[in-house]
Amino acid sequence: MVDGLRMIEESGVFTNNGPVNARLEASLSDDVFGHPESVVTCCNATIALMLAMKDVIRTRRRARYVLMPSFTFAAAAQAAEWLRLAPLLCDIEPDSWTPCAASEERLIARHGDDIALILPYATFGAAIDLGRYAALSRRTGIPVVVDAAASMGTTLPSGRPFGAGAPCPVIFSMHATKVFGIGEGGFIHCADTDVVERIRRMANFGFEAPRVASLPGLNGKLPEVAALIALEKMKTYVDATERRVQLAALYRQELPDWQFQAPTAGRQAHAMMPVLPPDSFVGSRQSLIDGLAQAGIGSAAYFAPHLAQHPHLARHVVTDTLRVTDHVSSRLVGLPLWDGLTDEAVRRICREARALVELGAGMQHFIRKAKLA
Ligand SMILES: *Cc1c(COP(=O)(O)O)cnc(C)c1O
Repeated sequence: MVDGLRMIEESGVFTNNGPVNARLEASLSDDVFGHPESVVTCCNATIALMLAMKDVIRTRRRARYVLMPSFTFAAAAQAAEWLRLAPLLCDIEPDSWTPCAASEERLIARHGDDIALILPYATFGAAIDLGRYAALSRRTGIPVVVDAAASMGTTLPSGRPFGAGAPCPVIFSMHATKVFGIGEGGFIHCADTDVVERIRRMANFGFEAPRVASLPGLNGKLPEVAALIALEKMKTYVDATERRVQLAALYRQELPDWQFQAPTAGRQAHAMMPVLPPDSFVGSRQSLIDGLAQAGIGSAAYFAPHLAQHPHLARHVVTDTLRVTDHVSSRLVGLPLWDGLTDEAVRRICREARALVELGAGMQHFIRKAKLA
């Protein structure tokens, strides 16, 4: 790593698709996805989403919506807004928390030609069915971009990396919070290498000839130092992902009454452990988060508010009914999960979590009895 930094300094090349970035892209293309020249890196996944979306909507200039789940990160909606498109929000499946197919179909039936693109989210590193989206795109003519921000490291049940060979752009984040975290960074994989090449130029101000902009563009390039850190990460992320899968299995075993995300992947890249407390838990989520904090355990709500509830977005989003989203978003807690965690630490977290749920139920029983008396 230090030698690599010294080489970057001595070369004097710090960015602009330098040799270290080229090595990273080749390694992702060839070693991970098995398709030469199928990856372009980016300074972060939000800019990568904007670039990919900008590219696929070329043919749909009059359309004004991006169909996405309300249960996702704000980046997806904000990226749409930079393209002057409004989020059209679908519900999620009750078990996998991935975009609900029936809800997507309802919105397509209602808004068809007004939809510029479909932006499914591979929820929490899940392996969503990209074949279904390819078929949907063929049937409706609406292009697809996949937000797989948290899915680097995820494999299909067959063992293939999630997204490999996708005909549409699949966006991955290398943000510090993801399993493949380097600080800030992202990349796009697409089996259509023309798309990859076009996005590479768009990420360099839209230049096709030197310093002549012939495409829409911005600066989305990944610096050499970041690419070097990512090359280091390539050596460890598979082991890290596998260790997290082990710990996730332990969580499931230790919290048998809690609801976990239904598995869709062979190996899922877990950035944290999202769970719903059992239905018997009548306390507030905040009381659970506070109780864990008192025991020295950090946990957090995720996608709460969900997109339709963000003050900046609420004014111009259009939504399907969001019954499952409302339920999951209001209850979900992300418990700690990283590869450095010991089995014993997970057992202790689960003991504390179980005790807090029992305490909440006990309190409720006590209050009811007091009211009756
Ligand atoms: C992390 C994340 C992003 C944004 O990635 P950045 O690299 O931080 O821009 C977008 N969408 C989802 C679902 C994410 O989890």
